[in-house]
Amino acid sequence: MSDPVNLLGLDSQALAALCEQWGERPFRARQLQRWIHQRHAGEFDQMSDLAKSFRARLQQQAEIRAPAIISDHTSSDGTRKWLLDVGAGNAVECVFIPESNRGTLCVSTQAGCAVNCRFCSTGKQGFSRNLRVDEIIGQLWHASRMLDEGQTRIGTDASPAADPVRAVSNVVFMGMGEPLQNYAATLSALHLMLDDNAYGLSRRRVTVSTSGVVPMIDRLREDCPVALAVSLHAPDDALRDQLVPLNRKYPLDELMQACRRYLSAAPRDFITFEYVMLDGVNDTDAHARALIALTRDVPCKFNLIPFNPFPESGLKRSPDARIKAFAMRLVDAGIVTTVRKTRGDDIDAACGQLAGEVQDRTRLRERMPVMLEVR
Ligand code: SAH
Ligand code: SF4
Repeated sequence: MSDPVNLLGLDSQALAALCEQWGERPFRARQLQRWIHQRHAGEFDQMSDLAKSFRARLQQQAEIRAPAIISDHTSSDGTRKWLLDVGAGNAVECVFIPESNRGTLCVSTQAGCAVNCRFCSTGKQGFSRNLRVDEIIGQLWHASRMLDEGQTRIGTDASPAADPVRAVSNVVFMGMGEPLQNYAATLSALHLMLDDNAYGLSRRRVTVSTSGVVPMIDRLREDCPVALAVSLHAPDDALRDQLVPLNRKYPLDELMQACRRYLSAAPRDFITFEYVMLDGVNDTDAHARALIALTRDVPCKFNLIPFNPFPESGLKRSPDARIKAFAMRLVDAGIVTTVRKTRGDDIDAACGQLAGEVQDRTRLRERMPVMLEVR
């Protein structure tokens, strides 16, 4: 008998196609999808409003399987980090950051990354493989399942509770990997995140972060425009070629044009530029001036990320005063600028220990999207 199909990896189209193939009516696919993604069912016998014969078939031929959790740590500030096993010795991180007005989940799309940015420990690991849809959406499924517990009132079988409180209100693709180099799986995962029968998130609350895969920025604009963050890190090609090797293929001029095109369809009227602050490398006033000139025609916000050092990088974090001065340059030019702040400090040690065990050196938590408004 063939392997069971993992329903977690099927977006609404794929689930509808499967149900059709099995002679089930289209609304069965939607019911099933709600059971999986909204009520976080892991077993088919929980799905009491599905016909017994359908459930029996599901039990035989399908499964709902998210990646196994290797570890689960919660910081005293509520930041929670899971390490997930994606097989063959590979592990990826997924982080939840609660704030008073939102809960943000940071997801990974690849084990390792082929872009190999100078300052990124994921890049230094090399590229292992693309995550599948079930492995990407499995991160949200796990997080929702655990975090919604106690918040979600499960209704009767026939009438699920209306408007349960959802802990995860925002998703950012800022974990391990380059989402636009795993485009098909990222796109299906995005569809599920936005789908009203799955997670029902608004486009504005889902952010794809990219190092600048220009053709795929255009594809995303056509296929599923969500909020876009672009990892810039340098104001000119000579420096960006060094820091983000992908720049040699898609230089800044092309990247800026792609950003402008994206804005025509984007759910937000700005691009977020991420900029890691590297002492003496990209953090001078001259760099700030060049950045202002570069982005003159692109409505944008800047998110400055204090570099998180790791042993073999040979780079240092810019001092706080330099980061502040840099931010003020941008602010004075009328650009909304935030400086990312660190959360979950007390689970650092645990993070480091795990790193040794499973060769995971991403220290993802430290580049999380928690922002501190400068102005
Ligand atoms: N590959 C995508 C998304 C994942 S990286 C991208 O590059 O945009 C998410 C963010 O973390 C990027 O802006 C990246 O530049 C930043 N980052 C990577 N390594 C970092 C480090 N050591 N310190 C601080 N930020 C880092
Ligand atoms: Fe890959 Fe992003 Fe790290 Fe660059 S910063 S190596 S694109 S994960």
